[in-house]
Amino acid sequence: MNLHEYQGKELLKSYGVKIQEGILAHSAEEAVEAAKKLKELYNSGWCVVKAQVHAGGRGKGGGVKLAKSPEQAGELAGQIIGMMLITPQTPPEGKLVRKVLVAQDVFYPGASEPKEFYISVLTDRGRGANVIIYSPDGGMDIEKVAAETPERVFTEHVDPLLGLRPFQAAKVAFNLGLSGPAFKEMVAFVQKLYAAFLGSDATMFEINPCLKTSDDLIIAVDAKVALDDNGLFRHAELEALRDTDEEDATDVEAREYDLNYVKLDGNVGCMVNGAGLAMATMDLIQLSGGEPANFLDVGGTADAQRVENAMRIILKDPNVKAILINIFGGIVRCDRVAQGVVDAYKTIGNIPVPVIVRLQGTNADIAKKIIDESGLQVMGAVEFQEAADLVAKVLKS
Ligand code: GDP
Ligand code: MN
Repeated sequence: MNLHEYQGKELLKSYGVKIQEGILAHSAEEAVEAAKKLKELYNSGWCVVKAQVHAGGRGKGGGVKLAKSPEQAGELAGQIIGMMLITPQTPPEGKLVRKVLVAQDVFYPGASEPKEFYISVLTDRGRGANVIIYSPDGGMDIEKVAAETPERVFTEHVDPLLGLRPFQAAKVAFNLGLSGPAFKEMVAFVQKLYAAFLGSDATMFEINPCLKTSDDLIIAVDAKVALDDNGLFRHAELEALRDTDEEDATDVEAREYDLNYVKLDGNVGCMVNGAGLAMATMDLIQLSGGEPANFLDVGGTADAQRVENAMRIILKDPNVKAILINIFGGIVRCDRVAQGVVDAYKTIGNIPVPVIVRLQGTNADIAKKIIDESGLQVMGAVEFQEAADLVAKVLKS
């Protein structure tokens, strides 16, 4: 699950990380009020209006604009809210902006120039450890830095048993070229950022830019946060931050049904009980000349209701030319599942693509009989190969 910038920043703040303060606005009028309030609170004349969508690269797409007065903040918010923001990270048609963050201008002039750094925390699965990735050349061109001057991007792996040790945070500050008060600030920033990452069961915290202000404060100006869905059950307060407007409608529906669903680009929809069997089934589809349209694990209880829900989700995908249902009946009895398929077929009504059902395990033969005698456009199979051949046949016709 992804968070908006304003949510990620609040989360960081709750761990003591300094952030670019801001107020959320849903309209031009609210943006004017927010800008006035910021002026009072932080005594800063200017402010930035930032589109809140689940995509990076907003600055380059025209979704981050500097305002010199509350009135101008209102004007800019009026332009940004309602626009389809196009960035390298959005779909080609862009993403609709529904709200903006009006934030204090932190690039104020002073004794020394403000400086933008890049800092992120992620899990390095290959190393089995979390890693801090950072660069002194942060800001909107970080992709270019990574491609052209990779030696300017540093990594610091964190031992999962020892945790982030103080010398490691100091090393980050040192490699970023800091000294004096800014060095100390950065050490604290890194430690608190890492604590926020661990504490929220995140898979990513990306702060770009992390800014050294002209008066030597280190603050998070942006926050891109991804949380581990499997950890959300112990963070009701984070789950509550979910913005379904930003998520794929089919994914949202699948989650409501408690189905484990991932959409893919192929033409054969599949419905399976168990993740391992789902992987094997996707291989089977490839072998028979098709491409899986999704990964869908209906879980241990493949009852009629779940079969029906899963069928509806699969049918939302216009690329689907056939559906393969592959259920292994261990504790689940195959005849019950078969009846579930037949019932689902009747409730949904018109299913415009052929459905192949392979049921194996307890009462598989009775199940095949139920399918074959249902009179519906459903093909039963018992063996894996049989199912593969049917998929191939259906795709050819
Ligand atoms: P992103 O483009 O989606 O990553 O959005 P960011 O939140 O990183 O903002 C993009 C850029 O806007 C930053 O890299 C900064 O250069 C600039 N920016 C952000 N906040 C301020 C600010 O307070 N003042 C000024 N002058 N520029 C800012
Ligand atoms: Mn950014």
